[in-house]
Amino acid sequence: MIITINEQRLKETFIELVGVPCPSCDEKEEAALLVKKMRELGMDPQVDRAGEQCGGSTGNVWGFLKGNVSGATRLFFEAHMDSVAPTTGTKVVEKDGVLYSDGTTTLGGDDKSGVAAVLEALQCIKENNLPHGDIQVCFTIAEETGSYGVRYMDPAWIKADAGYCMDCGGHPGAIFNASPKAINLKLTVKGKSAHAGLEPEKGINAIMLAAEALHALPSYGRLDGETTLSVDMIDGGLASNIVPEACEVVIDMRCPDEEKLENLKNETIEIFRKTVEAKGGTVEAAVKDVAPGVNLNTDHATVKLAATAAEKLDFPVSTGFTGGCSDANFLCGMGLPTVLLATGMDKIHTTEECLALEDLNNAARWVLGIVREATER
Ligand SMILES: [Zn+2]
Repeated sequence: MIITINEQRLKETFIELVGVPCPSCDEKEEAALLVKKMRELGMDPQVDRAGEQCGGSTGNVWGFLKGNVSGATRLFFEAHMDSVAPTTGTKVVEKDGVLYSDGTTTLGGDDKSGVAAVLEALQCIKENNLPHGDIQVCFTIAEETGSYGVRYMDPAWIKADAGYCMDCGGHPGAIFNASPKAINLKLTVKGKSAHAGLEPEKGINAIMLAAEALHALPSYGRLDGETTLSVDMIDGGLASNIVPEACEVVIDMRCPDEEKLENLKNETIEIFRKTVEAKGGTVEAAVKDVAPGVNLNTDHATVKLAATAAEKLDFPVSTGFTGGCSDANFLCGMGLPTVLLATGMDKIHTTEECLALEDLNNAARWVLGIVREATER
């Protein structure tokens, strides 16, 4: 017997989910609907306290399906509940096998395509009584505004070996196994103030020193296929008649390879030091972690499991890098090897957002395939 998903039900679930308003930090109604659905699936849903820490109306919704076979890879499926504005009052329009909104809101395929695909796979498992290992599901809040749901989740709740974040464009079969670690490097250049007109030669102009140091950087923007450096903020000076004593520069740096990022950071600080100190100034450097990286090689068990499942479904399999950060970055940072999987969401964060039903169906098939594959290991 071939077990397959129920396409009609999946579409209806998707439409039901996007019909509920769920802007970032106000996912209460969506969470209640998911709790109900997970309860029906026998998953004993729990809502955590992440919302209290980021001013949200609810927390992340967790569910757990205890395995009925032993020795399987313990899986973690994750998708976020919130959608970008305008998201309230979404009406789904179907045209030639593709879902759109009516043009006044986003569709919400980012990320209800992930949520619906996971729910449909679980429904299939339950109604066909399929063999499976432990499956943990987490639907997060406030991803779009900075992954606050994951940032504030308690890592001790995670009971899994392999994480799949269902939150990426592209056709199912596309796996994103690398995403940059992101840091902000704040460089405070200090010079010496003096009256700009009476005795500028007694001052050391911190803005000019910062400008010289920035000019000395060998490159900026995209440095290579996986590394970026962008000077994003600059602030200095007190008045138009004072040689500025201080100038602050914030540089965003991203790379999945932590060592490479560390070297880039150190080189940048060094360039600033050399340039600024040569002219009598000083530099203070402060580093802020923005997001951990995803850096799993293609041989990693988590990647191979998803790739094998996709191959068996005859999906075109690819692995690769995405320059954006998602919940997967933070899950990796908490020690759960997590990759991003494509669900077909398209033209996201616009009112032209769309989702091909074939992609949505394949995303659910893929989740089911990963469960099957994990069971066979
Ligand atoms: Zn998303």
